[in-house]
Amino acid sequence: MTTRNRQFLLAQRPVGLPSRETFSYVESVVGEPGPGQVLVRNLYLSLDPAMRGWMNDAKSYIPPVGLGEVMRALGVGQVVASNHPDFAVGEHVNGALGVQDYFLGAPKGFYKVDPRRAPLPLYLSALGMTGMTAYFALLDVGAPKAGETVVISAAAGAVGSIAGQIAKLKGCRVVGIAGGAEKCALLVDELGFDAAIDYKNEDLHAGLKRTCPKGVDVFFDNVGGDILDAVLTRINFRARVVICGAISQYNNKQAVKGPANYLTLLVNSARMEGMVVMTYAPRFAEAAQDMAAWLAAGQLKSKEDVIEGLQTFPETLLKLFNGGNSGKLIIKVD
Ligand code: NDP
Repeated sequence: MTTRNRQFLLAQRPVGLPSRETFSYVESVVGEPGPGQVLVRNLYLSLDPAMRGWMNDAKSYIPPVGLGEVMRALGVGQVVASNHPDFAVGEHVNGALGVQDYFLGAPKGFYKVDPRRAPLPLYLSALGMTGMTAYFALLDVGAPKAGETVVISAAAGAVGSIAGQIAKLKGCRVVGIAGGAEKCALLVDELGFDAAIDYKNEDLHAGLKRTCPKGVDVFFDNVGGDILDAVLTRINFRARVVICGAISQYNNKQAVKGPANYLTLLVNSARMEGMVVMTYAPRFAEAAQDMAAWLAAGQLKSKEDVIEGLQTFPETLLKLFNGGNSGKLIIKVD
């Protein structure tokens, strides 16, 4: 019997927003694993803003996806054939599986996950790269202290929603910036944020004044651009600005918009620092332990936005850039 593998390949490097034409859809026949290889049936794929950066032919923390290659995506799946001593048939793995039905190759960087301990999508959200990003960007780079004010942009998204809840667990006042009344209600009513600013319907400067009367000690920025600039005007002495992401800039056709207000860093003896989650790989187990304990105790809620169907990939990806997702955006491979 031959098994069909549906795949999305990177067909062209997008200028601006990606579209269906950015990818070519092909169907191939799945082969057998060679020495040191595994065959994995993909079950859930993680959709990440970083995918946009991987499409650019530019130097970054990871090489770009080559034209004609399967679009890179993290995911969880089940081993269906193995020629590798560390992975047995039936085991579930987390790794760079790609936007396709089956991964065939060396399981470089793959690790096992246990569906009996947590539902599989959770290994892409709180217990996966998303959770690790929120945990280390907040606690290591932002270093919030109890009583401080923490502001988070893209707060109703995957990373932001978790970072905000961790900041609450650490005793901070937490303010989320998100687009739309529904997302703001989610932050305050369900996730325990102290306040939210709907940047699409409220003047951001007024919103910051309203919600951060004592200024901002930690800004966890996922968005960049105008939002970064606005928050910079409200930072306190020795504030920490965490550059986790800059999603407002990823599809720019012009140059990235830098922070015009950066001199507030100078006058407040503040710092702005970037982070790449993989730097913290040696400490992932430590973070996963904390996250699992918080989840088990009901102190942390992991929100997943699961869309059914590999075929939807190009349109589903766009949700990250138009605010269509709430929580961690995941494709369930049908
Ligand atoms: P999200 O789930 O937060 O999805 C993206 C959200 O960003 C959207 O839902 C939208 O929410 C908001 N957004 C999109 N475009 C804009 C815009 N122009 N202006 C304002 N808000 C916008 O994605 P993730 O949680 O996966 O990622 C969040 C950030 O973290 C990204 O910047 C990503 O690159 C970064 N990241 C960094 C890592 C690292 O190692 N440094 C690792 C993982 C992620 P809304 O409706 O509120 O506008």
